Amino acid sequence: MNIKYAQIIVNNRSSQVDRPYTYIIDEELKDIVKEGMRVVIPFGRGNKLIKGIVIKIIGNTPYKNGLKKVVDVLDDKPLISKKLIDLSIWMKEYYLSSYLDAFQPVLPPGDFKEINTFIELVDKKNHDNVNEEEAKIISYLGNKEKTLLEYCKKDLRINNINKILNDLEFKGIIETTIDVKTTVEKRTEKWIQILDTNLSLLDIYNNIGTRATKQREIMEYIFDTQDISFKELSKKLNTTLSTVREVEKKGLVKIYDKEINREPIKKDIKYYKKHDLSLSQKNIFNKIMNSIEKQSERNKFLLHGVTGSGKTEIYLQLVEEMLKSGKDSIILVPEISLTPQTIDRFVGRFGDLVAVLHSRLSYGERFDEWRKIREGKVKIVVGARSAVFAPFKNLGIIIIDEEHEATYKSSQSPKYNTIEVAEKRVELENGILVLGSATPSLETYYESLNGRFTLLELNERVNNYKLPEVVVVDMRDELNKGNKSIFSTELHNAIDENLKKGKQTILFLNRRGFSTFISCRNCGYVVKCNNCDISMTYHRNIHKLRCHYCGLSINPPNICPVCKSEYIRYFGIGTEKVEEITREFFPQARIERMDMDTTSKKGSHEKILGNMKDGNIDILIGTQMISKGLDFKNVTLVGIIAADVTLNLPDFRAPEKTFQLVTQVAGRAGRGEESGKVILQTYDPEHYSINFSKAHDYKRFYTTEISLRKEFLYPPFLSLISLLIYGENNNKVATAANEVYNLIIKDINWIEKDNIDKYIIGPYPAPLEKIKNNYRWQILIKSKEENLNILKSLLKRVCIENQYKLKIDDVKISIDIDPNSIL
Ligand code: ADP
Ligand code: ZN
Ligand code: ZN
Repeated sequence: MNIKYAQIIVNNRSSQVDRPYTYIIDEELKDIVKEGMRVVIPFGRGNKLIKGIVIKIIGNTPYKNGLKKVVDVLDDKPLISKKLIDLSIWMKEYYLSSYLDAFQPVLPPGDFKEINTFIELVDKKNHDNVNEEEAKIISYLGNKEKTLLEYCKKDLRINNINKILNDLEFKGIIETTIDVKTTVEKRTEKWIQILDTNLSLLDIYNNIGTRATKQREIMEYIFDTQDISFKELSKKLNTTLSTVREVEKKGLVKIYDKEINREPIKKDIKYYKKHDLSLSQKNIFNKIMNSIEKQSERNKFLLHGVTGSGKTEIYLQLVEEMLKSGKDSIILVPEISLTPQTIDRFVGRFGDLVAVLHSRLSYGERFDEWRKIREGKVKIVVGARSAVFAPFKNLGIIIIDEEHEATYKSSQSPKYNTIEVAEKRVELENGILVLGSATPSLETYYESLNGRFTLLELNERVNNYKLPEVVVVDMRDELNKGNKSIFSTELHNAIDENLKKGKQTILFLNRRGFSTFISCRNCGYVVKCNNCDISMTYHRNIHKLRCHYCGLSINPPNICPVCKSEYIRYFGIGTEKVEEITREFFPQARIERMDMDTTSKKGSHEKILGNMKDGNIDILIGTQMISKGLDFKNVTLVGIIAADVTLNLPDFRAPEKTFQLVTQVAGRAGRGEESGKVILQTYDPEHYSINFSKAHDYKRFYTTEISLRKEFLYPPFLSLISLLIYGENNNKVATAANEVYNLIIKDINWIEKDNIDKYIIGPYPAPLEKIKNNYRWQILIKSKEENLNILKSLLKRVCIENQYKLKIDDVKISIDIDPNSIL
């Protein structure tokens, strides 16, 4: 007899159980249990029955003694596919996360223990070829709706029931589904039905009488529809339920509760017309499609195309090809709310075949979408980074739009990089990967020059629309001329002119709020957040100081808490102030602001963008929220109020981020027939980031920046690992940081002692020293590719398994492989 063993992980965060446990699979369950299914197992000393998920089935194990048995299986189909299991295990190793964290993204939304399997009799007639036990199950299910599998097992107590159910499902007699609720949730809605369908309208009028006009109106409406939801009726006629009750009393209608499904997600579908690809679009499309036909190894592409070059149209047509060949597509966007137009285009072309994974979905809704994807009811998913795990069975393509965006790196464990995960996933599923951007990240572009991605380029805008002219204004000159306003003369005049022409303007500043810090003129005291040690931003509409890291808000002080002076001054400008100043200068203009403060309400985003599209806004002011994806033909002027905001961040990626942001924002201008203009204000006009974005010259920017990265030993030449040691007690954190550092350098033998400081930097307080009451210390490790694996296993021993017994009770360590910010 060949025994099988299951390796199982359990969902238990509390104890040291983050590893697969091996259990025996009994003869009875041998053909039933599969990888990816949930099972019930006795766990721990008390043999408490708990739920776990099988990640591997093996034929042998060196540890046979004392193994326990799997008690029962909960699913009749694997919850997750073998490929997604492999992907999770890869993530766990690569990003040094726990098993549980690594599996979280591939498991259905919510708690996997809460999911239930339901059975339903779908074929109620053809039961000729069933045996006695099958018949028992059929008659049990016969007069029920969906039934919990658990109840069915309990009630019937048939041996080997899992196998019998499998057979019945195979014959198409029963069907199983999963859901997060213990009972199939029943939601009801009030509906109104006409009682006597033989009545004529005249009979009805006679019954109601002449004075009750509202009631007559209601009956006229119901007379046509016969059966209608109250919701719809009240919307159409602006009526109340009590008026309908009046009609009910007269015996004309009945009000009843109608069962409805969980609200399907409403999609406002506006058809998006297909364009014939231009010659250069077609070339790129063909190259990608050919790689599928030829099954070539080179199945990963970087599409570097200037803003407005028609990348999205290529994506759409690739997806259309996938559909034709029965394959599924995943389209990733940096943030759902920031890319409404991309979503509209996919939904507008493929309608109900698209699932949009919003972060605003409730758990139930998210689960419904997950299930739809798994059951093949949709073929296309558009979503932010976690959509890369969409449980498709036949994945054909993953498209990552604006691949350079920081949001593609997860900030929670597993701290994965979506591009790397997507690469791994297309390898496992034999699909293709397309990364797209007007400003690819240095790393991706470098890799595409080295062959990891095939580089495809679109250098012209569609219809030969010109890229906008970028004018750089040196704000120091403005000061010298005596202009202290936030608008240079040039920008001011350009806005004025644009208004006169009836064109739209976008003003960009990557900082929200009114004043970015307030300080005492007498002693220099700056108001900082108590939790975060970061200066607080003044928000005028609520008259509060707010911390942008933890959200704390306080009243602004009138006198300095240190020296009691009254000279409290407000410095630095944010979008709120830009709005106010713009209103002062251009009182006749219709002005709106779009940033986190004006878009917190559901739908507010869409409203502003809709107003922009309909031409109801002359000047749109915003943060990086307005830098992406927007395609408004009537925008001919973009003003960048202060490019220095990003340029001066203490991060080695600051020049790159500035180049990207300026290019993206500039790309909003001149997308119609009229050419566009960008006015960029800065105190540092000679900076290469500014100069190359002015020239729309990605390649020269790349060449300059990459040589600096090489010189200063930064990615992509070396991998960067950031160890963040944090906790509420600064002393303990500092001590732990030093101990960790010492353990690491003791074990590193591949770096010469003299060079250690070049490759292992720290420990020192992180640039953001304190966030949310946690003190943060940092150790930055630079590692060559060839040493990465031994380094990771060293970090695992020191920081995760704590093999050296560091006292790190009140201290947490977070490991980030290739972090995208080292603040
Ligand atoms: P990108 O994604 O590169 O910024 P888009 O796909 O948004 O560019 O294309 C820019 C504009 O050109 C859009 O309004 C789009 O509808 C239009 N467009 C794209 N491809 C074509 C084409 N082949 N013919 C005509 N218009 C096109
Ligand atoms: Zn003071
Ligand atoms: Zn704070």
